[in-house]
Amino acid sequence: MGEAEKSLNFIEHIIEEDLRNGFPKEALRFRFPPEPNGYLHIGHASSMCLNFGLGLRYDAPVNLRFDDTNPAKEEQEYVDAIKRDVAWLGFRWNTERYASDYFPQLYAWAVKLIKEDKAYVDSQSSEEMAKQKGTPTEPGTNSAFRNRTITENLELFEGMKMGEYGEGTHVLRAKIDMASPNMLMRDPIMYRILHRAHHRTNTDWCIYPMYDWTHGESDYIEQVSHSLCTLEFAMHRELYDWFLDQVCVPDQVRPKQREFARRNLSHTVVSKRKLMQLVTLGIVKGWDDPRMPTIAGMRRRGYTPEAIRNFADTIGIAKRENLIDVSLLEFHVREHLNRIAPRVMAVLDPVKVVLTNYPDQKEEWLEAENNPEDEGAGTRQVPFSRELYIERDDFMEEANRKFFRLKLGGEVRLKNGYIIKAESCVKDKEGTIIEIHCTYDPKSRSGSGTEESLRKVKGTLHWVSIKHAIAAEVRLYDRLFTDESPDTHKDRDYLELVNPNSLESITGYLEPSLQSAKVGERFQFQRLGYFCVDQDSTSNKLVFNRTVGLRDTWAKLLDKN
Ligand code: ATP
Ligand code: MG
Repeated sequence: MGEAEKSLNFIEHIIEEDLRNGFPKEALRFRFPPEPNGYLHIGHASSMCLNFGLGLRYDAPVNLRFDDTNPAKEEQEYVDAIKRDVAWLGFRWNTERYASDYFPQLYAWAVKLIKEDKAYVDSQSSEEMAKQKGTPTEPGTNSAFRNRTITENLELFEGMKMGEYGEGTHVLRAKIDMASPNMLMRDPIMYRILHRAHHRTNTDWCIYPMYDWTHGESDYIEQVSHSLCTLEFAMHRELYDWFLDQVCVPDQVRPKQREFARRNLSHTVVSKRKLMQLVTLGIVKGWDDPRMPTIAGMRRRGYTPEAIRNFADTIGIAKRENLIDVSLLEFHVREHLNRIAPRVMAVLDPVKVVLTNYPDQKEEWLEAENNPEDEGAGTRQVPFSRELYIERDDFMEEANRKFFRLKLGGEVRLKNGYIIKAESCVKDKEGTIIEIHCTYDPKSRSGSGTEESLRKVKGTLHWVSIKHAIAAEVRLYDRLFTDESPDTHKDRDYLELVNPNSLESITGYLEPSLQSAKVGERFQFQRLGYFCVDQDSTSNKLVFNRTVGLRDTWAKLLDKN
């Protein structure tokens, strides 16, 4: 579907209306403004698809702006990770900006506000200020410092900047209205003192601007036309506008803040703070753990940028918060991988098959199709010999007529190979089957003659030749949380709802063509699902992640438990 054919979302309706009212199309400009205090997650993907999508639709620039006003929490590592993730998703930013680049301009504007008697230095403790804040139904009370002279305010603010005062001794507040029905308008803090090194400005500053003061003015400096943020900022819009009123001049674009709903994904959490906690508590192995809903985690898991973008575009944006089932994301992953992933054979829960009428030392190389969905994908050779592995649950001694896999006296086709018949099985002392003895039909090899002349049987099984197979570590993932919406319970902490069995590591046996598989490459293990090569692989041992199963099996699993 082309960009133009898609129906408009409510943000696009707002923009269309602005254009109809004479806003020049060339002046449209957007930004994606992450705070570099953690890794980007699936919720940010929605925000990126929205902002960069608007850029594409209107051929307008989109800035990547780091909202880096809190040196206590922000780090270069996160800046680097965010850039990597945005680029990997396929989005191109116009310029890379930092709110910290605007610290001098913001300071100059703050001085202007003081001079206009619209800002003052308050020297109370944060507890005292909190007491004066009032409640939504009762007005606040003015600070005793509210009527400081302009000269005194200028001197104090300068001193704050020069590092003359300790943290918490003074703040700069906007002088708005302590009785405003909107609590955010009750003389909000613009600056606080922090004696902390910043990842970009180092120790140049001892005062740091607050989000509300920074965000709108940064939008204005960049001449962003539509500043899109999540709903929790709806109440901040009044303040955003008040701050803009103080600095906007005619003939410049005055940014417009509009809000959309945060996206939540089931069986996980999408908050950098909570994701950080999973990392620091060691519940996962890092921000890029394949169980994490971070872009880095999903990349490592084997998800594709296309799948993530298709997911975000399908759910679109909303005016109200809601929970999107993670199986919808998995659907898009499966759908894309079905088209692009080469097929290979791997056995993850093996049982040995011995072909009693196949010569002992013989081996054959059979031709196998790489991807039936992609004609250009070609073929490869897979080795066949007397001893094979098949999946343990593909065999039953006795089974009813609906079981199309292998049973004693029954026949199946081995994928790309021969028809075999199970004759007997060998068990150990506990009664576990350790070998299945079969005979093969030498005339039944697929690809050996015209396919029509081939005998047909109901079931087809995947397999690997034992002597050629390579053993690999295969990591199977399950939902990170057992609960659909782990962080919404009043009586339970989300950490109590972590799934203790979200990772299972097993040994799988793979066809030898996978020996040359590279980190990040994705495959369909036939009949099992999609898998990709993990970065933990070494020259001695491959490690695979299960990206997603072939079908949505979660519903079934729930029934079993
Ligand atoms: P978090 O709570 O995870 O820290 P945040 O909003 O503080 O999220 P930012 O780095 O400030 O994270 O977000 C950058 C942009 O992405 C903002 O415009 C924000 O509104 C948007 N965003 C963040 N989380 C979501 C989400 N779950 N759904 C949609 N947009 C989101
Ligand atoms: Mg934030």
